[in-house]
Amino acid sequence: MKNLTLMRTVLVYLLLWLHIGTTIGQLPTQSSPALRRLLSRLVTDVDSLFKIVKLFKSLNHNSASSSRTNQDIVPIDQIIEEAEDPAASIKAEPSYIEKENAFKLEGDIMMTVDQFTDMQTHISFDLLEDAVAMMLNTTDRITSVQTLMNEISAGARSGRPSSRVKRAARRDPNRLWPDAVMPVRIASSGFSAFDRWTIQRAMMRISEQTCICFRIIDNEVADSGIPHVQIVDGSGCSSYVGVTTRSRGRQNSQDLTLNSKCRTFRVATHELLHALGLFHEQSRPDRDFFVKINSSNIRSGMERNFQKFSRRTINSRGIPYDYTSIMHYSNRAFSKDGTFTIEPIPAINRFWYLNIIGRSTAMSEGDVQALRLMYNCPSTPSTQPTCADYPYMFPY
Ligand SMILES: [Zn+2]
Repeated sequence: MKNLTLMRTVLVYLLLWLHIGTTIGQLPTQSSPALRRLLSRLVTDVDSLFKIVKLFKSLNHNSASSSRTNQDIVPIDQIIEEAEDPAASIKAEPSYIEKENAFKLEGDIMMTVDQFTDMQTHISFDLLEDAVAMMLNTTDRITSVQTLMNEISAGARSGRPSSRVKRAARRDPNRLWPDAVMPVRIASSGFSAFDRWTIQRAMMRISEQTCICFRIIDNEVADSGIPHVQIVDGSGCSSYVGVTTRSRGRQNSQDLTLNSKCRTFRVATHELLHALGLFHEQSRPDRDFFVKINSSNIRSGMERNFQKFSRRTINSRGIPYDYTSIMHYSNRAFSKDGTFTIEPIPAINRFWYLNIIGRSTAMSEGDVQALRLMYNCPSTPSTQPTCADYPYMFPY
């Protein structure tokens, strides 16, 4: 098809050239030297044309390949997995971490037992809701199924504090940091000056693109009981999602773990975004429209890391599915043998995004938009944060 187009172009070019030549009387077709000149000029011109086409094709190819195959970048899920302490290596997820009295799932998400139970309950509600909708042969979930579901969920909640269900959801504003300020503290030892600088840089970039501020607090302020994130050394890279602080002595904190392999701008940004309230992009309730999960390629024990979260847990706020999100895992996440576990769909998305997912090195536009909507940022972005502690400097 391409050759045909090229031949057609050449033919048109030739006819045009002949036409111009004849019109201005420079083409005495009977003269053989003139014909030779014509042929030689034609060859030169066709050659130039080929060169131009070739150059264009190579330019086109280069620009397309750089955006489609950034294979040199290690997938973020791989970094997170490799950061896990081999001694404490987790064979199956979600796994219960006794020391934390919490569950770890999807490689780096921590959930309290309450949050985890509620997330599972939400998924069950979704399945039930789908089944009821199918039985009633309706797609109008809102009107015909909602009433029934409300009754079921009210019944299921009876006997337990109703706030539990609310607390588990990113939908719940209580899981957002009040006034878009996240108080944060870093462990006094185990982080080099360069580590601190890297984490500070990730925080500054978030503040520059959103209205979110970080408040650097010291031990004294932490002891006052202010809810905060504590950046600690430990096994792997992980964070709770949104405000999930718990009392520990005088302090009220939640850990954000960054072992030495996670202290990059990219992983620090990813974990800070979890702490601010973002889940993984491939867990979105609507993900089945955008990616195909190949269950048969998933390593045994990791299957539940690919659970689709309930819309009761994740509110995507109308933001389009974002393959370039720094919160997206790669095509081979938790693969048993290097085969694809996550594939963008349909074919055109697979073509463009198969090697893009999991390889973003900074927040995407979608990530920024999600944070801005979650934290009610003003519509005009300010690249000059007015945060009290900006530019951020952890104390030594
Ligand atoms: Zn993550």
